Amino acid sequence: MATGRPCIVISDEEQGYDLDLFCIPKHYVNDLERVYIPHGLILDRTERLAREIMCDMGGHHIVALCVLKGGYKFFADLLDYIKALNRNSDRSIPMTVDFIRLKSYCNDQSTGEIKVIGGDDLSTLTGKNVLIVEDIIDTGKTMKTLLQLLKRYNPKMVKVASLLVKRTPRSVGYRPDFVGFEVPDKFVVGYALDYNEYFRDLNHICVISESGKEKYKA
Ligand code: 5GP
Ligand code: MG
Repeated sequence: MATGRPCIVISDEEQGYDLDLFCIPKHYVNDLERVYIPHGLILDRTERLAREIMCDMGGHHIVALCVLKGGYKFFADLLDYIKALNRNSDRSIPMTVDFIRLKSYCNDQSTGEIKVIGGDDLSTLTGKNVLIVEDIIDTGKTMKTLLQLLKRYNPKMVKVASLLVKRTPRSVGYRPDFVGFEVPDKFVVGYALDYNEYFRDLNHICVISESGKEKYKA
């Protein structure tokens, strides 16, 4: 399933940027290798995704469903851009929000088992146009499971926006409708993406160092 629109493809050779070129919280400087996607670039790309979402889902009430916790920054910024479009154009879409919490990772490995561990009653999605907002698609198993789960509640339409998609041989072939960046098969953190709950309090998307993995190991 290919997305209709291109995304920013970060090549396997991309080295990112030296940490010293950006502002990094002091408590993380030894735990990261490189800045991979600077915060400003994330926002600029998100602004464009907002436009594409409005174009494809325009005219209908949208329920924006945030996949917690990793999706919360992307969700908040994406909705801010959609709200700006709603304020400033002739056409606008009413939007409501919902949250779901899923967990599949321990350390930097998928456990293969996806747990829904909180969130609203999904029956509120029946008959609605749902926009799922996720941080990253790795194998795609989490999203496939979530889509199966949502089907039971008969939403009218479901689209998925993911900030990142990983190029990985472990992929089940799932591709979301809206993608910010395609990234190499590395474990990334920051902008709400975590490693055992750490690094959510970091603006840029970065590659974690071996010592960082060791330090915050579960
Ligand atoms: P999947 O089921 O697609 O393999 O994994 C999806 C979930 O695993 C994502 O929503 C995210 O929470 C987590 N995940 C996968 N890859 C990464 C990564 O590189 N960094 C972080 N922080 N989380 C990841
Ligand atoms: Mg996630």
